[in-house]
Amino acid sequence: MGLFSKKPVTARVGERDVACLMCQAGEFWTREIKLNSTGMELFDLGWANASATGLICTSCGYIHEFVGDSLTLHQAG
Ligand SMILES: [Zn+2]
Repeated sequence: MGLFSKKPVTARVGERDVACLMCQAGEFWTREIKLNSTGMELFDLGWANASATGLICTSCGYIHEFVGDSLTLHQAG
């Protein structure tokens, strides 16, 4: 699990807690996801520093991706 943060986090977007879309769990591993592949330039994502924050559900593994600065992360527990 070397690419992942050592401890799970919870996440919020504004005042809303992020819950897994698949299983409703609220704790995630994080990793940076590079978006600067050739195809992404079609979507004009230069403003986003060509990366997204990936939240990987610690329960089921579903990956949620966020671009921009609306997402905040907090240590779980
Ligand atoms: Zn899940």
